[in-house]
Amino acid sequence: MTVRVGIMGYGTIGKRIADAIMKMDDMELIGVIKQTPDYESEVAISKGIRLYTYEDRINKFEKAGIRVAGTVNDLIKNIDVIIDATPDGVGAENRVKIYEPVGLRAIFQGGEEADVAEVSFNALANYDMAIGKRFIRVVSCNTTALSRLISAFLVHGYKIRRVRAYLVRRGADPREFKKGPINDVVFNPATVPSHHGPDVQTVLPTIDIVTMAVAVPTTMMHLHMVNIEFDGQVSKGEVAKVLEETPRILLFNSSSRKFESLAQIIEWARDMGRLRGDVMENAIIEDSITVFQNELFLMQGVHQESIVVPENIDAVRAMFKLASKWDSIRKTDLGLNLMT
Ligand code: NAD
Repeated sequence: MTVRVGIMGYGTIGKRIADAIMKMDDMELIGVIKQTPDYESEVAISKGIRLYTYEDRINKFEKAGIRVAGTVNDLIKNIDVIIDATPDGVGAENRVKIYEPVGLRAIFQGGEEADVAEVSFNALANYDMAIGKRFIRVVSCNTTALSRLISAFLVHGYKIRRVRAYLVRRGADPREFKKGPINDVVFNPATVPSHHGPDVQTVLPTIDIVTMAVAVPTTMMHLHMVNIEFDGQVSKGEVAKVLEETPRILLFNSSSRKFESLAQIIEWARDMGRLRGDVMENAIIEDSITVFQNELFLMQGVHQESIVVPENIDAVRAMFKLASKWDSIRKTDLGLNLMT
């Protein structure tokens, strides 16, 4: 079966998912819904992507000389699922106004509340919970990275007592020229836990996790400082082995490979010829891996613009029962050229 996919919202996340869908042989990108006839519309057309828009906006596209293939209604008649990558909260409105009335399945993003979908999803953590579901929410970038890291140990049979994580969040994405901070460390909301811990629990309900977060003036990546307490002693060697063996986790070494900052990790991705310089894997700082008896400490970089992309692909496969968890993860990673 080839699943026919549409995308609602062609921004940071939507455009990356569109490119990823086009690389999968069991999915077809039928088109994307755009509101504005801008440079991103032109880029999409140059890639052979069909554009759809709202009926009352077709004129705008025609005036700008950008050809659309039809209206939102034309697209949703011809697809099996829509991936909604609109700004926080818009997806929930779309579910009620557009998708449910025509019985269309949908995958939402982490900016929506958890109750927008039947399940909050991370492939490594709970793929099987999403099998056959009509509405799935792929959790946010920070939640994806934490869920993947914790699940790496759970799938290897380790028992976790508690997780404490401190998040240094990027202030804005590179294209968000109106957002900040440009010279500050923003702690509001300072309440503990930050929303990330409870969000991880939407995927891994039994994990004891507390998070704290601040935002800083960078667009590169988030940085997490994570402390995991296991039920029993672990060694640094076995931790490194678990992380090396887990898909979508990469180790970056400071002493031997001279990685000293998140900017260098992004530069590595650019040098490797990765599309847009994306790092869809958790970027573990290998030298930070430290173990005191049953406690692990480490740092990880999280490329907010791209880390959720492979999860959206797996969510489609789970929804349509196209593959088992590990087959889907392997197929996605192969299609996206990830190094795992
Ligand atoms: P974005 O602002 O870059 O893109 C959203 C796109 O949707 C824009 O092109 C906008 O014009 C379009 N849009 C808005 N309303 C629309 C509507 N009614 N119909 C059609 N298109 C509409 O946002 P983003 O960063 O891609 O975020 C999308 C979702 O992904 C959010 O839920 C966000 O929380 C989540 N997310 C974002 C990141 C990140 O760091 N950027 C990471 C993980 C998850």
